[in-house]
Amino acid sequence: MALSWDRFVAEVERRKPVFWLRDDDAATVTPALERLLSFAVPVALAVIPDLAEPSLFEKNVAFLQHGCDHRNRAATGEKKTEFPATEAIPDALERLRRSRERLVSMGGDKVLPVVAPPWNRMRRELAAELPRIGIRGLSGYGEAESLPGVLQVNTQVDIVAWRDGKRFIGDEEAARLAMTYVLRNQPVGWLTHHAVHDAAAWEFLERLFALRGPRWAGAAELFSYNRPAHV
Ligand SMILES: [Zn+2]
Repeated sequence: MALSWDRFVAEVERRKPVFWLRDDDAATVTPALERLLSFAVPVALAVIPDLAEPSLFEKNVAFLQHGCDHRNRAATGEKKTEFPATEAIPDALERLRRSRERLVSMGGDKVLPVVAPPWNRMRRELAAELPRIGIRGLSGYGEAESLPGVLQVNTQVDIVAWRDGKRFIGDEEAARLAMTYVLRNQPVGWLTHHAVHDAAAWEFLERLFALRGPRWAGAAELFSYNRPAHV
């Protein structure tokens, strides 16, 4: 059922939800990235470690580890993934550890011990081993599963319609995706990809960030405890 943007706006004003923003695929500073960072909301920037340039880390944001090299290693019949079932878990962990080391060498403590896997995909058996290399958080998409020792804080609203020319998904679809979590008084994770936004996506973000009601939380806060204070 269609959900009007106006109804969503009214509900957000009433319930004052926690919102947060994860932006994926950063490697270098580009005009599109500068545009995203010019808004007055905290950004969790998911960086491709093996491609990241040092200048990126001059930005005052929280950095998440977006896999290692963002290369699709899926076997035939497997969905796109950097971490295919055929790769031994110790090998995948070692790649992740090395890439994390590279990130931390450039970003220091702005780099959170959190992996946001490319295509939001990491098999459970691998995710469960992340604490062995010092990673304590995971950010994917949709409903979060419980994983012992790993705090999962997912995004739920990807504003890009990937299979439809990478256009903006539209106000009604964005409202529909977010509303479930607003009604549950749970944080809503907005997922953006600055490099591919069309004019409608940028215009939407301007309106989203100007909404009265939501409290925009930083990733450091969300990953430090399970239930952000309800305000
Ligand atoms: Zn990505």
